[in-house]
Amino acid sequence: MPVPKRKRSRSRRDKRFANKGFVIKAFTECRNCQEPLMTHQACAKCGFYKGNKVMDTKIDRALKRAEVRKAKGAQKQISQQAAGQSGPEST
Ligand SMILES: [Zn+2]
Repeated sequence: MPVPKRKRSRSRRDKRFANKGFVIKAFTECRNCQEPLMTHQACAKCGFYKGNKVMDTKIDRALKRAEVRKAKGAQKQISQQAAGQSGPEST
C-alpha cells in the first residue's frame, strides 16, 4: 500500500481549503435605483422588483410611523385645546 513519505504540514494542507469559501454569485442591478442586487430578489433599498413596488423598506416604515405620530400629536393638541377652552368657561 502506498504511503506518503512525509507528513503534510498544516500550512500545505490548509492552503488547499483556503479558497473554498469564495463563491462568486450572480448579481444584477436594481431597475429603479441601480443598486447592485442578487438575482430574483427585491431591492432592499427601494423595495422594487422588476419595476414594481413590492414591499415597504425601512425608510417607508419610519415615514409611516412619523406620520402616525404626527397625527396622534395633533389629535392630542386638539383635545387639550378643547379641554382648555371648556375649562375657563365652566369656572
Ligand atoms: Zn432599488
